Amino acid sequence: MNILIVEDEPKLAEVLRTYLEAAGYAVRWVDNGLQVMDVVRDWAPNLVLLDLMLPGRDGLDICREIRAQTSIPVIMVTARTEEIDRLLGLELGADDYICKPYSPREVVARVRAVLRRFDPPFTAAQAETSGLVIKADAWQARLDGVTLDLTPVEFRLLALLASQPGRIFSRDQVLDGLYDDHRVVTDRTVDSHVKNLRRKLADVRPDEDMIRSVYGVGYRLDLSAEPS
Ligand code: CA
Repeated sequence: MNILIVEDEPKLAEVLRTYLEAAGYAVRWVDNGLQVMDVVRDWAPNLVLLDLMLPGRDGLDICREIRAQTSIPVIMVTARTEEIDRLLGLELGADDYICKPYSPREVVARVRAVLRRFDPPFTAAQAETSGLVIKADAWQARLDGVTLDLTPVEFRLLALLASQPGRIFSRDQVLDGLYDDHRVVTDRTVDSHVKNLRRKLADVRPDEDMIRSVYGVGYRLDLSAEPS
């Protein structure tokens, strides 16, 4: 697994590199905002640790571009706690955040947790009958042969609901499945992600409402119907 560290303070970057390499990850370090997208494209990291305040280009701007072009998970590193809801929200779609000052151990734990979320339990047998195929290692989902263009949060949401089709997941359970620390994320954020995912599924199956809202309870994915 390749981890890209974007951090303009060499001492911080060096400590992170040491801990991440000790945990078995391959690490590259970029110390400014301008080179990030080149390394993302050329090296294809499995995860980006992205500092918010960078010379050359703002971390928010970089996060937005990574999100627009790839499904690579992004952990934002910031001392600006007032930005957190925005970082995790729809506009930027970071997968997690770490507040400075942090302990390097905590960073390694967060990296592991975010990468683990991309490993949803969804069996091939279910996929064959439902027309929905989720490839966790490639972070790719297909419905009736059509590749779905999902954000990482939408991908995890779909994988979570598809892990037990027909089961109702409460908003809290959805939040637990999507974020390690959901205190800063509102119900409205979940609803927005569900709405976007539903729209993308409906692009492929316009006559079917695959994600049902159970009023006052939560959401469930219906996979019983045959592909049209
Ligand atoms: Ca910085």
